[in-house]
Amino acid sequence: MKVICIGRNYAEHAKELNNDVPTEPVIFMKPKNALLFPGKPFFYPEFTEDLHYECEVIVKICKNGKYIQEKFAHKYYDQVSLGIDFTARDLQAKQKQKGLPWEIAKAFDNSAPVGDFIPLTEDTKISDIDFQLLLNGTKVQSANTREMIYNVDAIIAYASQFFTLNIGDIIFTGTPAGVGPVQQGDKLEGFLKGTKLLELVIR
Ligand code: MG
Repeated sequence: MKVICIGRNYAEHAKELNNDVPTEPVIFMKPKNALLFPGKPFFYPEFTEDLHYECEVIVKICKNGKYIQEKFAHKYYDQVSLGIDFTARDLQAKQKQKGLPWEIAKAFDNSAPVGDFIPLTEDTKISDIDFQLLLNGTKVQSANTREMIYNVDAIIAYASQFFTLNIGDIIFTGTPAGVGPVQQGDKLEGFLKGTKLLELVIR
């Protein structure tokens, strides 16, 4: 199982971090040990002093595939949820400055908490999903999947040129504007179409 992540997929978020809006999808991966399933504790990592939340819509792959055409991509995922792409922003800034890979800042153990998955249906279409993140009860991120620069089908078509997608793989589709730091004791709650799917307390 692997986690494929898209960076800078919402124009407002790219701007808030002073990044250019990309001309092709920005892709990175997290290993299996990055996943943290609902109900498991998350501990603030000791190697960072600037851990940021990034709330993202995530989809689960239900069919193996490579070189998937965009028009068929919708057959390759059937469940949706929210995840947090935890980022050690201080380490990432250092790596970016040197032009080095981001893994130590983004792919560490438990850096990808996921919520409860729900099926995609006629009512829950991937192209029109409102989602929000609350930090200690205050809304800090709020967006709709239609604001993505690359939609899920385009991401799958692009990523599957390089990586075979396997059943159970999870795709993080990028975060909207409003990212920020967390501290020990903070509570994150993710809502998809008004339903809470993710809850996490930083220990
Ligand atoms: Mg992200």
